[in-house]
Amino acid sequence: MDAPKENQPVEIRIDDISMYFGSGDRKVVALQNVSFDVRQGEFVSLLGPSGCGKSTLLRLMADLLEPASGQITIGSQHPREARLRRKFGIVFQNATLFEWRTVKDNIELPLEIMGFKKSEYSEITTHLLELVGLSKFQNHYPWQLSGGMQQRVAIARALSLDPPLLLMDEPFSALDEFTKERLQLDLLDIKKQTNKTVVFVTHSIPEAVYLSDRIVILSAHPGRIHSIIKVEREEGSFAHTRRTDKFHAMTDLVRSCFHEESDSLDEQIV
Ligand code: ADP
Ligand code: MG
Repeated sequence: MDAPKENQPVEIRIDDISMYFGSGDRKVVALQNVSFDVRQGEFVSLLGPSGCGKSTLLRLMADLLEPASGQITIGSQHPREARLRRKFGIVFQNATLFEWRTVKDNIELPLEIMGFKKSEYSEITTHLLELVGLSKFQNHYPWQLSGGMQQRVAIARALSLDPPLLLMDEPFSALDEFTKERLQLDLLDIKKQTNKTVVFVTHSIPEAVYLSDRIVILSAHPGRIHSIIKVEREEGSFAHTRRTDKFHAMTDLVRSCFHEESDSLDEQIV
């Protein structure tokens, strides 16, 4: 049995973050006073409707944006320092692979950029190809792959420099339901094997419940934390989780947070 995640050291600290876009009449409050921690080895989802600031929050963690106020630390470092030290890998909704490079060459790109020699990383690539189930496709080109397989390449590439943290922004949203469920299962398997910390953006309640240890529920306009829910699941294989009573109870619980929210919105509109 794994040690309780709440006893692990803090990997990411989000401290009173606010973020705005535009100015004057056009000012959008994307995030307002958002604070929470992510522990080492935790799988945390950011869940909420479109426009509630999920991507903004992930981009702030990845040093792709600067907050208007507040602080983020990753392993006690500023996100810039963490980025330079390759402390995280990122996976977006679109795999963004290089069409002229094979699966293997796409996965090896970050290693190449870092100046490693091919002889130094061939073992790493073999392992990553196995991890994401693409060993047989290593010499294929992206256009020869399904959307799900392309996302597998993107995950392997994000893991190539062995960062402790994986940041994922709706990586399975564009996939069909069957492929999505398979990739979710495989992601949990990868997570178990590598013990990475994962921050995962989604607007799907069942996806968040299936994957996460904790769910940070965000509400929109302005983007704020509505609640943080610890997911309880029955012991056993991930393949059966979706059919358990606990899974259904958890999705109902999370869904009720949004209903509560829309009720109060209705009151505001009246
Ligand atoms: P989500 O990922 O939850 O759908 P985002 O983080 O993309 O939400 O956006 C949060 C809010 O900030 C939205 O109202 C969005 O329109 C706005 N926003 C995000 N990025 C920009 C930008 N670069 N310029 C202007 N507004 C933005
Ligand atoms: Mg988004």
